[in-house]
Amino acid sequence: MPFGYHGRILHVDLTTGKMEIETPPESFYRKYMGGSAMAMTYILREVPKGADPLGPENLLTVFDSVVTGASISGQSRINVNAKSPMSEGIGDSQAGGFFPAEFKFAGYDGLVLRGKSPSWVYLTILNGEAKLHDASHLLGKLTAEVDAVLKQEVGDPKAEVMQIGPAGENGVRYAAIVNMCNRMNGRTGMGLVMASKNLKAIVVRGKAKPAVADQKAMAALNKTGPEGVKTNPDMDGLAKYGTAVVVMFNNMIGTLPTRNQNEGQFEMADPISGEKMAETILKRRETCYACVVRCKRVVEIEEGKYKFDPIYGGPEYETIGLFGSSCGIGDLAAIAQAHQICDMHGVDSITCGATMAFAMECFEKGIITKEDTGGIDLRFGNADAMLEVLKQIVTKSSKLGSILAEGSARAAQLWGNGAGECLTTVKNQEAPAHMPQAKRSLGLIYAVNPFGADHQSSEHDPYYEEGVADFNLNRLKEIGLGTPQPVHSLTPEKVRFAYLTEVFYSMMDTLDLCQFVYGPTWCLYGPKETAEMTRAVTGWDVSVDELMTIGKRRLNLLRTFNAREGFTRKDDQLPNKYFKPLVGTGPTAGVTVTHEEMDAGLDEYYRLAGFTKDGIPTKDTLKALDIEWAAEYLP
Ligand code: SF4
Repeated sequence: MPFGYHGRILHVDLTTGKMEIETPPESFYRKYMGGSAMAMTYILREVPKGADPLGPENLLTVFDSVVTGASISGQSRINVNAKSPMSEGIGDSQAGGFFPAEFKFAGYDGLVLRGKSPSWVYLTILNGEAKLHDASHLLGKLTAEVDAVLKQEVGDPKAEVMQIGPAGENGVRYAAIVNMCNRMNGRTGMGLVMASKNLKAIVVRGKAKPAVADQKAMAALNKTGPEGVKTNPDMDGLAKYGTAVVVMFNNMIGTLPTRNQNEGQFEMADPISGEKMAETILKRRETCYACVVRCKRVVEIEEGKYKFDPIYGGPEYETIGLFGSSCGIGDLAAIAQAHQICDMHGVDSITCGATMAFAMECFEKGIITKEDTGGIDLRFGNADAMLEVLKQIVTKSSKLGSILAEGSARAAQLWGNGAGECLTTVKNQEAPAHMPQAKRSLGLIYAVNPFGADHQSSEHDPYYEEGVADFNLNRLKEIGLGTPQPVHSLTPEKVRFAYLTEVFYSMMDTLDLCQFVYGPTWCLYGPKETAEMTRAVTGWDVSVDELMTIGKRRLNLLRTFNAREGFTRKDDQLPNKYFKPLVGTGPTAGVTVTHEEMDAGLDEYYRLAGFTKDGIPTKDTLKALDIEWAAEYLP
């Protein structure tokens, strides 16, 4: 018997209803370990070149890893992949919660969904047994309603539900997949792909928890976890104030996106900070399966026009940065309301918040007028206008709502008239709430990341800038980094930092690990402990080097998919906005990214990664990573 995983992958053909169980050998698990690396072995081989992301030939994959469900912090995350309707390249998204561990306990390591059901269905996987059921009665219901109905239908309040909301049914391009009503596989439009297959929900429950190989080593790691939450200041802040703990820090260093990322400091940062949330609307802290950090927020607002139901959790930093400061809004209750609308309808709050800020800038500049907004005064700072337009987006109930439901890049193409200058997108994917002007290496990763701008695909610059704490630097030394660089620089060494930490993060997305618990710098567990944990769970003699190879395999497979779809260096570019000096106040006022440094950064990145000058993986690189089979899909 394997340790940590089942050796069983469920295949469901939604067109015919046929199901099969695949039992890959241990070598497959050791080579890919889980998540999107494993998923790409199916997607790359089976999704034809040029396939319609919303057609039946697209695959939707849902993968745990070999460590998901083990009793230790930060392992309960799940990865969803498909060709993305946002970028038309690869889509990739992770979510935490209790669903990922429960999926494992239901008896499988992964799920491959093919085809399209002739009518709306939901899938149950209960103690290893999978079944499709009619879902017509669930259509149009909010996520909390569906969650409650499905738990009742399977007769178990502890069942976990992953679903698309009404936004997915309505065809919002950046629809999300929601579990626990408040955890999102949000990015890259995976909810719309699930909707295109007429699959409303997946319900899981089971008792098949795989054994771990080394209980003693697990116990030792579990002992240091709770201590680290108290003694590591970054973890302590995350636990107390959630991800919104970084609002004030990012504001201080000039990377709190303000008024559609034209400024890096917001005059109302304090009222929307994690500290303020803890003082005012926070009801309690929540967690993911077995995690001691408990960083998730649960807020409650019982009175006033922005009432909030705790079932929808609470806003993360990204939601605050994008619906808040980037829309010029300093009202935490209004931002929480935006979060609630996103969760109850199932849309990605990053894409949606950034699209809203984009529309506000277009309105301020006269690119769109009240004629386009149906009379709404869509100015920065107008919270009620923002919420009204948001409701129109998730329901696609107005012309403006339907346009913005396509995302900002498609809206800019339609509007023209300089709207493209207001974009923050890479590969049609809106950038999160961290700005490349202050974080150059992150900017480079925004540009090269196979599924568009993403803030959780590498470590952020402040951890490799002069003055970084020894604790963080010593961790970075474990993956071959040790020479911090000047602030706002993109030196070759900073590019090496970008690349090596990207590889580490890529491994974490393969093992489905939480990036607040495992990481190359500030987290609860560093690189050596990540290898130790993987060894303890699986019994394999895994080293940090092997983990880095896993990360490289995933990156190369994702990138090979994109290359086959025609993506090249021209797609690895930041939008014009980031090449204009920031206005406003703070240490980044007047700061800009230059084309010269980004071009040089790309050259160096491609060299380190073993890609051509056009950003394409080479046969030799794939061979060195023992994934030579993928070369067949290179252009
Ligand atoms: S640190 Fe937060 S997001 Fe990560 S596993 Fe723990 S509770 Fe979940």
